[in-house]
Amino acid sequence: MASLRFKMVEEALSHVAVPAQVPEGRSADYFGELVFGRNVMRRYLDRKTYEALIETMEHGTPLTREVADSIAAGMKQWAVEHGADHYTHWFQPLTGGTAEKHDSFAEPDGRGGVLEEFSGKLLVQQEPDASSFPNGGIRNTFEARGYSAWDPTSPAFIVGSTLCIPTVFIAYTGEALDYKTPLLRSLAAIDKAATEVCRYFDRNVSKVFCYLGWEQEYFLVDESLWAARPDLVLTGRTLMGHESAKNQQLEDHYFGAIPERVIEFMRDLEYEALRLGIPVKTRHNEVAPNQFELAPIYEETNLANDHNQLLMTIMNKIARRHNFRVLLHEKPFKGVNGSGKHNNWSMGTDTGVNLLSPGKTPSENLQFITFLVNVIAAVYKHAGVLKASIMSATNAHRLGANEAPPAIISTFLGAQISAVLDKLEASRSDAAIVFSAKNMFKMSGISHIPTLMRDNTDRNRTSPFAFTGNRFEFRAVGSSDNCADAMLTLNAAVAEQLTLFKTAVDARIESGMKKEKAIYEEVKKLIRDCKPIRFDGNGYSEEWKAEAARRGLDCETSTPLIFDRYLTDDTLRLFESTGVLSRVEIEARTEVKWETYTKKIQIEGRVLGDLTMNHIVPIASRYEAMLLDKVYKMSQIGGLDASADIDLLKKIQGHTAAIQTLTIEMIEARKKANRIENAREKAIAYHDTVAVFFDQIRKHTDRLEEIIDDQMWTLPKYRELLFIK
Ligand code: ADP
Ligand code: MG
Repeated sequence: MASLRFKMVEEALSHVAVPAQVPEGRSADYFGELVFGRNVMRRYLDRKTYEALIETMEHGTPLTREVADSIAAGMKQWAVEHGADHYTHWFQPLTGGTAEKHDSFAEPDGRGGVLEEFSGKLLVQQEPDASSFPNGGIRNTFEARGYSAWDPTSPAFIVGSTLCIPTVFIAYTGEALDYKTPLLRSLAAIDKAATEVCRYFDRNVSKVFCYLGWEQEYFLVDESLWAARPDLVLTGRTLMGHESAKNQQLEDHYFGAIPERVIEFMRDLEYEALRLGIPVKTRHNEVAPNQFELAPIYEETNLANDHNQLLMTIMNKIARRHNFRVLLHEKPFKGVNGSGKHNNWSMGTDTGVNLLSPGKTPSENLQFITFLVNVIAAVYKHAGVLKASIMSATNAHRLGANEAPPAIISTFLGAQISAVLDKLEASRSDAAIVFSAKNMFKMSGISHIPTLMRDNTDRNRTSPFAFTGNRFEFRAVGSSDNCADAMLTLNAAVAEQLTLFKTAVDARIESGMKKEKAIYEEVKKLIRDCKPIRFDGNGYSEEWKAEAARRGLDCETSTPLIFDRYLTDDTLRLFESTGVLSRVEIEARTEVKWETYTKKIQIEGRVLGDLTMNHIVPIASRYEAMLLDKVYKMSQIGGLDASADIDLLKKIQGHTAAIQTLTIEMIEARKKANRIENAREKAIAYHDTVAVFFDQIRKHTDRLEEIIDDQMWTLPKYRELLFIK
């Protein structure tokens, strides 16, 4: 019997490179051609409208109805000229991913005909029928409807034949039901707090931006093989599969040539991304076989995040043209590295200064150290909720497992910066610092940072939050995550910390201390206080786990319990004082996180149960029957030794029996958990009593995969899934 698997493997092997559809010429010719950006606006809007829109984009000035109408008219004209016949409000609900509801530009005129219409009203605000989006009970408690509202700071774009208008999604009562709303609020909070601190150093600063450069990791699998793996199709990861004899031991994939089929896919993806204004730059293999990465040049955070969301949605569409499927799951395969989405994060002023980049003068360096230390202090204080912000059922496989990054948040600074901070901290007497009009202060170390440091930030790949020369890299973010959760939490934490810092420095100044000394003293205090969060060693090691616990760092590994960090007094104060999230919003969002966790584990449990009972046990039985037949016949002939076959039979027996028992127990545990009403308790039950069966069951299925006739095995094996020909 030729199994489906063999057919699919054959099909996969027949897939050849599909040439990318990229026009000749330079990327500058098509970069942003599907975006209603400033250049296009200038051409499609009259001057008054254009200026009003820029004013709104830059300063948030409300638009008049008239101006909105005129923007809508220009936007529509441009969209129609570029092949669009529909438009949609594009938003980021808490389900993850993006949502859109397409409307035709043509509207009924009420007299049986249609009217081509797209007004300012439709551009600015809509009420998607969104009762099915998760809301953690907000809309039940308050008001049944939510609405989407245009975010003019992120430009509209065209996908296929649809004009997509980036929007926020909020409940009728004003609570955020999406990722974008609180992200925007957090950017406003950090702008306000950081600008004030900047003005100690430079009175000309009037705005601080946050930048995000994400690095998207992903796996590709052949579509035919993917289709024959119900677990990949339904959960995004393999729930079973014996490790391939060759994995990533040789580490030959990382520097290896990218297969032709993949190159063509990447070319198409990059082309589409560039047309959508996503400034993609690098492509390379990652550590694991079939794992790749794509990273754009960093952008202002809100735009960067929209671009990441957009990229994730177009990836699969493009992959299918090449007979691939994209796996964005954090851990699709056991035994090989998982996928993350490093969030490179920095702050910069409207005067063009990167606040996390060492400067040329001592004053610039004091500013740099000030911001650096405040970030570290913020991460120290809110490490728990930062971890919660990147935690999920899927990312949990990555964190805490023996790979980047560990489930303990710490910061890596590198030898150079660590030495500077240690020196600063140790300089107890004021005599060590010389203040003068010319030279704000002198201290060996500080004025030398710039030249030395850049080449010196060695890459500690095991740190979840690493300083990399002119930015921090939040590495714990999962490959399937919306970056907003991590970014808004980090922004809120840093905004709060900078505000506290400003208050403390001002108090010292008021009591007669000189400004520079006041800053310096506060910085020193912070360095002392937040020392436990600094760790430059190996984040994977067992010693670190023990050491981190001794330091009092958050070492919780259970996903549902990590979500509790959202509801501590410290976190509530953090989000409320910065205006990023209200208590109702936090409670609702945490509820959604627990619910999502439960659903994911529930689905995995069901798929695993189906696979073991419908695939694995029947295959094992068939093979057993064959062996039994053989053993029986051998005994009939006599004089033959069937003991090896009998041993094998016993082994198979043992594994199948265990699988059956464990599966039944898992189903029982699920039933019990399903009866729990409370979202938190239910998630905990799923974590503690259901998910624990997955690995136990897997151990037996993977052993069976090893010993059962290869011809009979129906599921594509790791060695087939992981190596693209
Ligand atoms: P690596 O893989 O070595 O970490 P990459 O070059 O792949 O580095 O990615 C680095 C990312 O960091 C890119 O998206 C880059 O644009 C971004 N980046 C560089 N400088 C900054 C900065 N100042 N702020 C935010 N992101 C930055
Ligand atoms: Mg990186």
